[in-house]
Amino acid sequence: MNKKLSSKCEDFINDEKINDIIKNTPEDKVKVREIIAKSMEKKPLEVAETATLLAAESPELVEEIFSAARQLKKDVYGNRIVIFAPLYIGNYCVNDCKYCAFRRSLRTTVRKTLSPEELTQQIEALEDAGHKRLILVFGEHPNYTPEFIADTVRQTYSIKKGHGEIRRVNINAAPLDHEGFKTVKASGIGTYQIFQETYHHDTYKSMHPSQTHKSDFLWRLDGLSRAFESGIDDVGIGALFGLYDWRFEVLGLVTHSIFLKERYGVGPHTISFPRLRPAHGIDFDKKYFVSDYDFKRLVAILRLSVPYTGMILTARETPEIRREVMAFGVSQIDAGTRVELAGYTKKDSSQEMKREQFQIGDIRPMDEILRELINSGYTPSFCTSCYRKGRTGEHFMEYAIPGFIERLCTPNALLTLEEYLLDYASPETREAGEKMIASELAKVKDEKVRKEIMERLDKIRNTEQRDFYF
Ligand code: SAM
Ligand code: SF4
Repeated sequence: MNKKLSSKCEDFINDEKINDIIKNTPEDKVKVREIIAKSMEKKPLEVAETATLLAAESPELVEEIFSAARQLKKDVYGNRIVIFAPLYIGNYCVNDCKYCAFRRSLRTTVRKTLSPEELTQQIEALEDAGHKRLILVFGEHPNYTPEFIADTVRQTYSIKKGHGEIRRVNINAAPLDHEGFKTVKASGIGTYQIFQETYHHDTYKSMHPSQTHKSDFLWRLDGLSRAFESGIDDVGIGALFGLYDWRFEVLGLVTHSIFLKERYGVGPHTISFPRLRPAHGIDFDKKYFVSDYDFKRLVAILRLSVPYTGMILTARETPEIRREVMAFGVSQIDAGTRVELAGYTKKDSSQEMKREQFQIGDIRPMDEILRELINSGYTPSFCTSCYRKGRTGEHFMEYAIPGFIERLCTPNALLTLEEYLLDYASPETREAGEKMIASELAKVKDEKVRKEIMERLDKIRNTEQRDFYF
């Protein structure tokens, strides 16, 4: 590994400044309403404006923030929800992160790296469930070289079973050097995700023991800048909520987002906001535990602050929380999730904590989650079109270009949903989904577009052809 930082490297997180903003920003009804109005025009918020939203404590003001996030979601994003699954490739790790069951000092964790045969079995099981988009997850270990990650990506794309295939592979792994990012990029990845975990330096230090790779705050903070400089224009940021004050982390994420946009012309494609979960061998101070109420606040505030960034809500959360928080503008969720190594071929959904990174909150099968989404008015989408058509880098396009959603996103959502309904769904889900497709089609105003969607739907229904996209 070449420890060369990005050409624009700088530690843009000033703890004192962020803490001062939090401490000195009072609740201000008038300002909160002005800032909400700015978000409704889809303008990204400054750090100080986000801090004003964070300072809103009175229930009525918080409710205004919630309803603004719900409204923004409806106006800007429509009712599509993109579906993916995480696939853990290996849990050997040289780091010792205090919150993670894969940390190296935990001798009782069962370690494994999927062999090529096991990888094939897992991918086939995921394809049999209807998945088209995966995120591959890796511990940090000398075995998990950029070449190994790239080979895993290539193998994943090559496995096809029946109508099943994986059309987009994202990565969550340790930060690489420039060469490493180039190697992984060449294998055809979608998003490269790196979570900073905590943006607060002292907390970062206490969570990541010195002498471990991950203890280098700046190397990690600079990771996605190096990714940009290596040609990856699709990156995901995130913070692990529960390690430090959630308000600080929200401002850290917004600062990071603004930094990337200013330096590289593109903000992050996605923001993740995992909340700390119980895990094997993990027991530490819960001082910064984020309550459900505050979790809802932070999701709504992030939505308002970064209007063009996708937001990922994972199965760490329970179905109840997912239902509620989704309405605040989440754009992607995972479904049918297993975090145990080789877990997708297991018959039952029980969790064996010694084999998992953490306990998940939503263990429902994919079909059940999709049916619930459909019955709640969401259109599940397996669309991978933008990435395959080379429409990456300018993630805001879909929301900013008039008609983009109607011409491209909605058709692609309906076509990929139809594939799911025909090839994988239970009869109940299929019935609910077909009704939804009919009602969504009726809403498409442009007759030419509607006709084109109908023609392609017919082809999916009456032939073996799949994978139509606009
Ligand atoms: N090893 C890579 C790294 O550290 O960047 C991959 C990350 S890990 C396999 C995926 C993410 O899970 C971590 O970045 C962390 O935010 C999250 N995570 C770790 N322990 C967790 C826990 N106990 N509860 C919830 N999320 C956790
Ligand atoms: Fe390893 Fe990542 Fe877990 Fe840290 S969070 S111990 S780096 S797998």
